[in-house]
Amino acid sequence: MSSVQELRYEGQTVVVTGAGGGLGREYAIFFASRGANVVVNDLGASFKGEGGNSSAADKVVEEIKSAGGNAVANYDSVENGDRIIQTAIDAFGRIDVLVNNAGILRDISFKNMKQADWDLIYKVHVFGAYKCARAAWPHFRKQKYGRLISTASAAGLFGSFGQTNYSAAKLALVGFTETLAKEGLKYNILCNVIAPVAASRMTETVMPPDVLAKLKPEWVVPLVAVLSHKSNTKTGAIFEAGAGHIAELRWERANGVHLKADETLTPGAVIAKWKDVVDFSKAEHPQGPLNGLELLEEAYKLPANPK
Ligand code: NAD
Repeated sequence: MSSVQELRYEGQTVVVTGAGGGLGREYAIFFASRGANVVVNDLGASFKGEGGNSSAADKVVEEIKSAGGNAVANYDSVENGDRIIQTAIDAFGRIDVLVNNAGILRDISFKNMKQADWDLIYKVHVFGAYKCARAAWPHFRKQKYGRLISTASAAGLFGSFGQTNYSAAKLALVGFTETLAKEGLKYNILCNVIAPVAASRMTETVMPPDVLAKLKPEWVVPLVAVLSHKSNTKTGAIFEAGAGHIAELRWERANGVHLKADETLTPGAVIAKWKDVVDFSKAEHPQGPLNGLELLEEAYKLPANPK
């Protein structure tokens, strides 16, 4: 893969959702500085998803234009992703890269969570990403080219106190990406998902200033740039990025146990082999599920499970 300095996006249109601030702003400014036409989407709401105004997106567009770049603003919520993609088509005639980045928080313990806290997080993160990708997809397929980056979170991958709504939504985007990667592959549509860590209004209330100073959103940009570029070949992958650390993350399957599949497969048989069920000493890194039929054949050949 060529070096980051050489990556350019001339003739391409990049849509960045939630690009009025934080990470999205940095992506938009970067892509425009490397020759792309950029749609700066932001509905300008608070980090809890309240209110809205056009100035967040406008400011980023002005900044891009005054640096000699090409950008247009869009103020729709990602829930109306079709309008955001239409802005790209109307202004630039195509869409090549979609960065699903818009996001909000409604942190609250599960016990105290209201239905609205759950619904709004789902609507912005999952439904919004779906609506944008769904509108971009026919264009990607037709031109046999597309790059889709969605934004998960460590909260989704590992869980995080007070964030059941956000964690569930963020992990949903991993499954979303992994399936789209499979459906998009033959059309050269590559789909990846990132779990960023960066200083933004989302993290400024939960992290101390000295840590925030070290977590510049600019440092997540190079990974997104690489994954969005035509030279990228990676698809269906999860990456962590923040504070200069960039790493792919993958599934791990424990050693496990093969039990005979008959009436001797009791809870007691599972307990008897529990240490193998959770033994990662000979773990594998699966690319997909085990073959159920092969497993069954094996399971029938086994002797009865000990009582
Ligand atoms: P941010 O609040 O600075 O930026 C999010 C932007 O999305 C805001 O400008 C906001 O106005 C916009 N937005 C919110 N709802 C929208 C909607 N319905 N339609 C269009 N735009 C909308 O936060 P950030 O930290 O830059 O977050 C960017 C993404 O990264 C989010 O998806 C977030 O969940 C994710 N993330 C961030 C971190 C982090 O450490 N900052 C960690 C994990 C995940």
